Amino acid sequence: MSESRATAPRQTVKRQKYPVGVLGATGSVGQRFVTLLADHPWFEIAALTGSERSVGRPYGEAVRWAQEAALPPEVASMEVLPTKAPLHTKAPLPCKLLFSALGSNVAKDAEVELATAGHTVVSNASSHRMGHDVPLIVPEVNPDHLALAEEQPWDGALFTNPNCSTIGLVMALKPLFDAFGLDAVHAVTLQAVSGAGLSGVPSMSIVDNLIPYIGGEEEKIESETQKILGRLEDGAIDPAPVTVSASVNRVPVIDGHTECVSVRLGRPASLEEVHEALASFTAAPQELGLPSAPERPILVTTEPDRPQPRLDRNAGRGMAATVGRLRPCPILDYKFVVLSHNTLRGAAGGALLVAELAVAKGLIS
Ligand code: NAP
Repeated sequence: MSESRATAPRQTVKRQKYPVGVLGATGSVGQRFVTLLADHPWFEIAALTGSERSVGRPYGEAVRWAQEAALPPEVASMEVLPTKAPLHTKAPLPCKLLFSALGSNVAKDAEVELATAGHTVVSNASSHRMGHDVPLIVPEVNPDHLALAEEQPWDGALFTNPNCSTIGLVMALKPLFDAFGLDAVHAVTLQAVSGAGLSGVPSMSIVDNLIPYIGGEEEKIESETQKILGRLEDGAIDPAPVTVSASVNRVPVIDGHTECVSVRLGRPASLEEVHEALASFTAAPQELGLPSAPERPILVTTEPDRPQPRLDRNAGRGMAATVGRLRPCPILDYKFVVLSHNTLRGAAGGALLVAELAVAKGLIS
């Protein structure tokens, strides 16, 4: 090899990344965003926000880091910025795309202010999920609902990610809904403590215990499922006519929501057909090869004692739902257990996938 060839600079085409911000970056979901964005191929962190407690401090000092992965060194020295839009009139957030991990009380006004100011917000908060012009998206289930954002009055846009239990549930319901129709769903959840945020459930309440109540959660699972499985027609969502009954429980598990589900189908189907519909399911994120999409959104296990949170929550890098114990139901038609990771697929990872889908569809430029 000649010397000039050996020392010639390598030609590399570097794709420019989208600068993004994380609202509520110090919380449980915010930290997941920071971890996932640290080596994301399309997005890079340009802004981190918090409450008055954190504003002005370096992120590494303000955050009570609770992830297994180390705090990415490149964000440790970033200054935590204020969250609300009016506070940015002199120094706006340096990125159009924002991921929101704010509590719903703060998100209610802050997300509208930021969308009005021209930002595209992808939110985990519940405040706007059921808004008539707000897309509530699980990318494998209702990617076409992104178009609902065209009805919004703001210069920017607001997309939402469903409740963490709703996401695992609708991922399992979608193939059944498409193949056989769905009349009724009964779901009993066993939800991890990380779903209650960093300062969530005191250990004296949850160790050696179970709490059969999470405020507002049952109503969210019931109404969000109908919206997500609904049809977008003439700029509005017609909710799916599926009766959904949810009973929720908080259990002493760190991460991973388990749900015991019974379904009545719209038409008769054999156990093999139901198994096949679940196991063969793929959708738009897999076809588009989106970076956060799992190879298979639903993994079906036939082992008698699975799925289990500790063993199955990280399936598909925490982005797949694992379905097991599929069997006939003597009251409805079939029953099964579905497990999904509540802060990955159920929050930060799910929101990243929504943003990736919006980018792939040309809705974020
Ligand atoms: P969290 O741990 O309590 O974090 C809340 C975040 O909001 C913190 O960064 C906090 O900042 C910030 N914040 C609080 N008050 C604020 C204010 N007045 N102005 C600006 N920022 C403020 O909550 P989380 O569990 O991460 O949940 C975040 C959102 O995601 C919630 O809406 C939740 O319902 C939703 N969600 C959570 C899960 C889950 O599994 N955890 C799943 C799906 C959806 P400081 O630290 O600076 O105070």
